[in-house]
Amino acid sequence: MSSPIVVQVVVDKPLAQGFDYLWDKSALGLDPEVGHIVEVPFGPATLVGMVIKVSAHSDFDIEKLKPVTQLAPLPPMDPAALRLMNFASQYYIHGLGETIIPTIPQMWKKSSDWEKILAKINPAEAKKTKKKKVEEPVRSEGYIGESQLNEAQEEALKQLRASSTQKEFKASLLQGQTGSGKTAVFLNWLKTVLGDENSQALILVPEINLTPQLERRVRAYFPDKKMVVLHSGISEKKRGIAWYEAVTGKAQIILGTRLAALTPLPNLRAIVVDEEHDPSYKQQDGIRYSARDLAVWRAHDLKIPILLSSATPSLETWMAAKSGRYQYLRLDQRAQGAGLPRVHLINTRDPQNQFSPGDLDKPATKISLSKPLVGAINRSLQEKKQSLVLINRRGYAPVLSCGACSWLSKCQQCSSYMVMHKAGALGRKPVLSCHHCGLVKPIPSHCPDCGNADLKTLGQGTQKLEDSIEEVWPGARVLRVDTDSSRKSKGAEELFQEIHDGNVDIVVGTQMIAKGHDYQNIGLVAVLDADSRLFSQDFRAAERLFAQLVQVAGRAGRASKDGEESGDIYIETQFPEAAVFQYLLRHDVDGFLSHIASERDEAKLPPFSYQGLVHAEAKSLDKAIGFLSSLKGRLRGQGLITQGLRVYDPVPKSMLRVAGIERAQLVVESDDRRQLQDALEAIDRELRDSSQGRISKVDRIRWLIERDPISI
Ligand code: ADP
Ligand code: ZN
Ligand code: ZN
Repeated sequence: MSSPIVVQVVVDKPLAQGFDYLWDKSALGLDPEVGHIVEVPFGPATLVGMVIKVSAHSDFDIEKLKPVTQLAPLPPMDPAALRLMNFASQYYIHGLGETIIPTIPQMWKKSSDWEKILAKINPAEAKKTKKKKVEEPVRSEGYIGESQLNEAQEEALKQLRASSTQKEFKASLLQGQTGSGKTAVFLNWLKTVLGDENSQALILVPEINLTPQLERRVRAYFPDKKMVVLHSGISEKKRGIAWYEAVTGKAQIILGTRLAALTPLPNLRAIVVDEEHDPSYKQQDGIRYSARDLAVWRAHDLKIPILLSSATPSLETWMAAKSGRYQYLRLDQRAQGAGLPRVHLINTRDPQNQFSPGDLDKPATKISLSKPLVGAINRSLQEKKQSLVLINRRGYAPVLSCGACSWLSKCQQCSSYMVMHKAGALGRKPVLSCHHCGLVKPIPSHCPDCGNADLKTLGQGTQKLEDSIEEVWPGARVLRVDTDSSRKSKGAEELFQEIHDGNVDIVVGTQMIAKGHDYQNIGLVAVLDADSRLFSQDFRAAERLFAQLVQVAGRAGRASKDGEESGDIYIETQFPEAAVFQYLLRHDVDGFLSHIASERDEAKLPPFSYQGLVHAEAKSLDKAIGFLSSLKGRLRGQGLITQGLRVYDPVPKSMLRVAGIERAQLVVESDDRRQLQDALEAIDRELRDSSQGRISKVDRIRWLIERDPISI
């Protein structure tokens, strides 16, 4: 008998190591290779895993090893993808198996379906290629060819092309306000890259909502290329097929959200990260990776170019471009000639900005908008322009309260309030809903504490604002766009289309309307609750607010062609003097970034230092804090808190309680990347010794280590 073949397989469990299995070549048909996706027995069940090592030996008794039961009909994951997975696993302190396996679509995790899927994919493919041949290539309005580019765009394209011919790593930042033609530049650039028939390009976008629009534009540039879209909003089946086409190299263009960043792409030649500053690139559960950062690593590893594009770059990227580490490309004009929107700060503390009882312009029904804003909406309606009114709160009212006692609609499971939703929004009747744990309750008819029947709402959300706008402007066509309205009969895409088609005069919505969409007739944008994001314990809050406001301002007056200032953005605030607003007023993105750079430098905050977080979740805050304090004590005791490493005291999270679980965190910081990495790895070892997976054996406390957290 020949010597046995042993393979080491990793599975999706919070474990540092893999498991040995026997490979029976006659049963599986092939020799094992690292990167093979297999099915293995695991406890009483079977799991999908990946081969990470092949050998003739095992540290365990070979007689007792179980055999691999199935081999997936997929090519082994290519070496570059394996390097990426290994890096992600190490850098983000996450097991290799629990890094790799979640990137495989669900459809490929049931071995009984494997043959069926392939049978389905192949005929489906055959049909599609046939159909495509008769289809004329589409050159829709989104197509701006190379000859149409303006000077700044041409220059940027030239620089990008120069960087992509050399087979070396080159990161570039393409900075330019919304509408300056960044997308047109990178799509023209990708034409060069994709000139080689087999090459693949990865385009990352922060949100699902942005994919359909970009998909159409990409299609216009590449009518003959196979493009697949990867995000969590598509069906499992579609995603499974798209992933297959990406990993087998059949698809040349891969457009997707952060999850696409970890898709194996054997012929990857270029990467684009659109809206690179967007926090959605950070995964917030499981392995907490930054898709942007991994994309940069991947480009570096593969020696290929990567383009980061944004109107408001992240401080990290902007500093890299300033220092010359990244190539800095800029577009300083709006492509279609439109000027920048006028920014108006409405000081809501100023009595002149409020309606007084005798005011002639005062609307007949009550509305919580300031006087200048009501006037501006009136003008916009007269000019037949659309208005966008943004408030980052969905629901009717954020809190229900009792007028007789101090009762407030607190969530019993979370440290937050239950939001009132009006009838028809989440059910047939009005309800209270917790946006953190999902608890939904009927509206009480009486105060649960004192029995008073007169319950009042406090504050307003999109639904209440929609109601009052409809009352003040009964002739106007009002549309509400938030995650509740887009989940109902019409999807987000259809709601956006209504705006594009001009079927709406006033749009009320959350941030989700403001992203990426190229609306042509918006004359006015109003932001009502910017202040709520002004004072936050999170040091990145101002940066984020600034990016959102610039984004929002970019929606106004895109279509005006006269080069004049066009469109207006109104911001209601009690603090017009705040730096965020002042830089916005001057459209000074670089000024704002320098300002926060010096603040961060002084406070030694990222990107001037590096951070990690240890999260702890327990039944009570005391236990969570106790767990982290004891960890800190042990680190100190073992001499692991070396010079330069700052381990802060554990603190409750700003959102302390979610779904009955209380949460605390410990910040670990260093000016030296390597030192932080070593410390986090030591913490991981220390915690793993006393845990089962990521749950401590003694107190059953769930812990997690996060590298480069983006919210603290
Ligand atoms: P960004 O990505 O910076 O927001 P886009 O590439 O989407 O900018 O361009 C904004 C709008 O201007 C789009 O409608 C696009 O088709 C158009 N556009 C881009 N470049 C040009 C150009 N050189 N001439 C005319 N229109 C252009
Ligand atoms: Zn009461
Ligand atoms: Zn809750």
